[in-house]
Amino acid sequence: MDWDWFRWIVRRHFCGPHSRYELLACDHPAPAHWPQQLDLYLHVPFCRSFCPHCPYYKEPYDPHVADRFVAAVRREAKRWANLAGPIRIGSLYVGGGTPTLLGEQLGELIAALRTTFGGLEQVAVELLPTDASEAQLDMLSRVGVNMISLGVQSFDPASLKLIGRPYRSEVLDGAIARTVQGGFDFVNLDMMFVLPGQTLDDLQRDLDKALASGADQLTFYPLFTFPYTAVGRLRRQRRLRMPPLRQRRAQYRLLHETMRQAVMQRVSVWGFARPGRGRYSSVTRQRYLGLGPGAASCLPGQYLFNTFSVDHYCRRIEADRFATALGMAMTDDMQRYYWLYWKLYETRVPQAELEQLFAEDRRAFRWLRRARHVGLLQRQDGELTLTERGAFWVHWLQNKFVLQYIDTVWQRAMAEPFPARIAF
Ligand code: SF4
Repeated sequence: MDWDWFRWIVRRHFCGPHSRYELLACDHPAPAHWPQQLDLYLHVPFCRSFCPHCPYYKEPYDPHVADRFVAAVRREAKRWANLAGPIRIGSLYVGGGTPTLLGEQLGELIAALRTTFGGLEQVAVELLPTDASEAQLDMLSRVGVNMISLGVQSFDPASLKLIGRPYRSEVLDGAIARTVQGGFDFVNLDMMFVLPGQTLDDLQRDLDKALASGADQLTFYPLFTFPYTAVGRLRRQRRLRMPPLRQRRAQYRLLHETMRQAVMQRVSVWGFARPGRGRYSSVTRQRYLGLGPGAASCLPGQYLFNTFSVDHYCRRIEADRFATALGMAMTDDMQRYYWLYWKLYETRVPQAELEQLFAEDRRAFRWLRRARHVGLLQRQDGELTLTERGAFWVHWLQNKFVLQYIDTVWQRAMAEPFPARIAF
């Protein structure tokens, strides 16, 4: 089914007929104003090998390119700090790629960002199980990393093979134990479900092992098949069938029920944390600054992407310019609905903030009221919270809407370092 018309109607209804959904060439950030606080995202675009399902921008690791990249990130950070002036930086999330391929340079880079911006109370790093050695974990702890997201994905050897992960299931127990006992404030395990051929029993085994791991949070993402990835191509060539909606629904119900019985608290449509341990998320920050090639920045009134080419990124920074390639003006409507979307993703919408933000715009309330009537939302302690059914449909909408946009933008941006215009 072609969902383009449906996406068009929904966007037009919420954000108005005059909102333009296009990213235009943009080589200089121009936010409407600087907020009091920002979070940082650093994209380290290097991997040893490529997993076929992976949609993220990455390049094969080359130490010479990595040296150039590290120097460029330091300069880019200083350039942003000079432009923004004194600004509070809450957290830093380092993703990729495989950030720990930088070794000691990653620690030096985190220290340099701390000197440039100050703050950085929370520093989170994505880690591959094969990199969770004692030496690596010690280094991360020494440089103030206090949150780790370990990319386990599955304990099942057949599933690991299917998604092309570069390790065997035997390494997982040791990697998880070392990370959980490594003295970090918070450990998240990234897991996958809705894999082709995965049965409910397979998923139950993964859920049980993940729960027994002692990690603070478990995030179970459905396998996304972006058409431009190797898995997307394979799906087209071999007509690989993804689990149908009924099976997806049954898996989601099993996930939810198992977490409920284990008294895990839902912190996003896919994430469950031990009560009182906080939460870990790479995507739900409201205002953030992206460093590195392929990184996005969400600033007041403007959404930006750096070029998706490490070479062009370094060239721009070495020429004392910003590495931004694309920008989109965000109207007030777009920013309000962006906020609401991520609150729904977190499964909780604070009512006081909702009333304040949407004081002049009652459309959102009409839709939220309907969602409550059909059992997707409920009122709880001053918040609108998603029910299990509501969380499933947000997960489904994420597949139908947001991934389609990401696919359009990333596919073009990876093919052209500086596209003139991407409309979606
Ligand atoms: S999933 Fe992780 S390790 Fe695999 S290619 Fe993508 S970024 Fe690299």
